[in-house]
Amino acid sequence: MKQLLRQMPPVHELQRDAQFHSIAKYYTVDIQILTEYLKQVISEIRQEILERTWTGPEPGSNQFISSVFELLKKRIEQQQSYTLKRVINATGTILHTNLGRARLSDRATEHVIETAQNYSNLEYKLEEGERGSRHSHAESLLKEITGAEAAMVVNNNAAAVFLILRALAKEKEVVVSRGQLVEIGGSFRISSIMEESGAKLIEVGTTNKTHLRDYEQAINEETSMILKVHTSNFKIMGFTKTVETTELADLASKHEEILFYEDLGSGVLYDFQQHGIGEEPVVSEIIKQGADIVSFSGDKLLGGPQAGLIVGKKHLIDQLKKHQLARVLRVDKMTLAALEATLADYLKGEQGIQQIPTVRHLLMQPKTIKARAENFIQQLNNEKSGYSLRIIEGTSQVGGGTMPEVELPTYLVALVHPTLSTEQLARKLRIDSKPAVIVRRHKEEIQIDLRTVTDEEETLIIKALLTHI
Ligand SMILES: *Cc1c(COP(=O)(O)O)cnc(C)c1O
Repeated sequence: MKQLLRQMPPVHELQRDAQFHSIAKYYTVDIQILTEYLKQVISEIRQEILERTWTGPEPGSNQFISSVFELLKKRIEQQQSYTLKRVINATGTILHTNLGRARLSDRATEHVIETAQNYSNLEYKLEEGERGSRHSHAESLLKEITGAEAAMVVNNNAAAVFLILRALAKEKEVVVSRGQLVEIGGSFRISSIMEESGAKLIEVGTTNKTHLRDYEQAINEETSMILKVHTSNFKIMGFTKTVETTELADLASKHEEILFYEDLGSGVLYDFQQHGIGEEPVVSEIIKQGADIVSFSGDKLLGGPQAGLIVGKKHLIDQLKKHQLARVLRVDKMTLAALEATLADYLKGEQGIQQIPTVRHLLMQPKTIKARAENFIQQLNNEKSGYSLRIIEGTSQVGGGTMPEVELPTYLVALVHPTLSTEQLARKLRIDSKPAVIVRRHKEEIQIDLRTVTDEEETLIIKALLTHI
């Protein structure tokens, strides 16, 4: 063993090796830093030799030097790899919360890159050559699309709810139906946010039924707001009663000091109901029905970046913009770029919305998915892959805590590996494939839903499956 250790080449000798310099160049790492890594690698090998766990070539051999540099490369790659990695979502769940919700359109992505790499007029008026406001950017698009008098954008919808309650209802009473005191994603509870904001929650009605008279009876001089929360992530079945937006808007308008605010959760700018999908009210309808203020998410069904969009009466939005918290909750220029580009597509009609991946995935026809699944299987069969493959009918979820009752009909590629278990193959696809492929597992089968997979990603999945055979 001593003999082996003695044959270890010294660091300064390894530093003179051409491989050392080509690694430094390839990975653009300073020589000093690379030397540190090299020392670490050498000391680890030493340790393994002492513990008799070293299985590499013997020190002194040519192969040994190469294996040192291989380990050095691995070390750098590990250091330089991102923790936030691209994945392919082959689950069919469109707004998969764990996988980053909405993916952006090409147009939005291009606008983000341009805005990120360059200076922009983020807070500058080009006409006047004067200081401007970042609030101006998505505002006119939001006004045009929703028909609201004014709009503003904050970090996410949770932030929007908090800002609205804090700025417009602090130390005042806010009336909410018991059936709408929702918890979203395990960390956002309307009741907790309300408490944090300093607004006083006044619960009315019961879990399944709330009547207009329940709201009426709760109103007093301390009331500043009626809040309706869209129950995005669950559905109460059977005997239920909720009060319509128009009725609550009318009730609020009878009292000068009382606002009606609707937290739409996802909030859609496109009417999915016309295709028989879900029951999401379009934001412009809610404005038309008289809501004073409405908030919704940027990265749920809208298909844009993470953001909280607030639309409504101008004097209220002005108050929000002036509030100290607006600075705390403000969005980055990249968010505004992505949002602006996504919103612009909504103004182009059916062709425009097809550019937004979330919307496109949602509207994708089962027959299109079936044809793609057939082609997918054909390609694997052409390679004589050895997988056992079949197409089965199934459903895709919308995800992101939205449209919980909706099951979109789809076709799944169900596959079984000749030797690996579902668990083993799913793990390989997650860990050994670049990008990682996230699939569904169902009993003894892996299931792939091509609804959320692009053509380019389809090729990558096939490649990944072939490497794991
Ligand atoms: C999702 C949701 C929120 C939170 O929105 P984020 O954009 O995720 O912060 C708030 N309210 C409702 C009703 C929701 O569905």
